[in-house]
Amino acid sequence: MIRDGEAVTRAELARRTGLARSTVAQRVDALLAHELVYEAGDSASTGGRPPTVLAFNREAGVVLAADLGATHSRLAVTDLGAQPLDETPLEIDIGEGPEAVLERVHAQFMEMLERAGRTPGDVRGIGVGVPGPVKAAAGAPVNPPIMPGWDGFPIPEWFAKRYEAPVLVDNDVNIMALGEHWSHWRDTEHLLFVKIGTGIGCGIVAGGAIHRGAQGAAGDIGHISVQGHDDVVCSCGNVGCLEAVAGGRALARRLSEIGLEAEGTRDVVRLVRSGDARAVRMVREAGRALGEVLAACVNFFNPGVIVLGGDLSETHEQLLSGVREVTFQRSLPLATQALVTVPSRLGDRAGITGAAIMVIEHVLAPEAIDRMLRGHVAA
Ligand SMILES: [Zn+2]
Repeated sequence: MIRDGEAVTRAELARRTGLARSTVAQRVDALLAHELVYEAGDSASTGGRPPTVLAFNREAGVVLAADLGATHSRLAVTDLGAQPLDETPLEIDIGEGPEAVLERVHAQFMEMLERAGRTPGDVRGIGVGVPGPVKAAAGAPVNPPIMPGWDGFPIPEWFAKRYEAPVLVDNDVNIMALGEHWSHWRDTEHLLFVKIGTGIGCGIVAGGAIHRGAQGAAGDIGHISVQGHDDVVCSCGNVGCLEAVAGGRALARRLSEIGLEAEGTRDVVRLVRSGDARAVRMVREAGRALGEVLAACVNFFNPGVIVLGGDLSETHEQLLSGVREVTFQRSLPLATQALVTVPSRLGDRAGITGAAIMVIEHVLAPEAIDRMLRGHVAA
């Protein structure tokens, strides 16, 4: 409540929680002793002695956030309000395997901590997003198709040898969904975040929380089939998968087949931005294929907002027009009545923001704070 500004004086906290004033005073003292809150001065007086205003101390520690991608990653050191203190891209091939990649990440984190004037002792938690499915409890990737050598690798254990802080790992699309939702759509209960990059995936926020499904495979819309593409074989072995039709890799391949220079998603974006008519038409068609799948998702899930993110979403006008056209045509009116379809506002920062938020919500959860304060009393 102090952090969100819902109740910022001891009296308000007592009123809102129904706890005795003496209990609130005791709890606030413990939070002050841990420097998680501080006294920010007096509130406006309405006569009598003005009550002291409490504020959350976002500098009470730092979070390390890593958004690992297939070929490019992004790292950040943030405060406890998810504001970046230092941030850097990292070009590394995830296929080099966990040891090599995590060593590079760790070395970079140490440099970034130093630049931010912080030490490993200030780290309250580490959040990692990976481009593949994750068994959330173990923090280990599960059969990730584009991450050779990572299957079952316990990422938290690797970091535990180097930092004394909790390590949370999730799928990259889930953390992007979390970052975008927390930053811009907190009042929206049901949101879909669609990442359109080399591949296509979807993060689901249901009832305000990430929905992962029974095995962590929820939202894998890249392998839903779209009509009229039975000739397109997907890497998964099926035909007509959305990702094989409209993913960045697929588009780049088709553009290079007609003689354009395109190796990956970024080249597709470059060609669209330069106004190349063939690339523009192809991305619009990709948007329509995506719209077909999203129309089904809209009928099934009834989201309030669909956010389009990932590298290819940087062509958003072309992509969005295709998506909107088909989603509105093919979804039921009730489901699209108040539906908003927008490009990501965080852009390539959605992942690290979400990774930081994932950690912050974990270390500031009531149970975690209770444990911390009990430790203090015992000491
Ligand atoms: Zn497939």
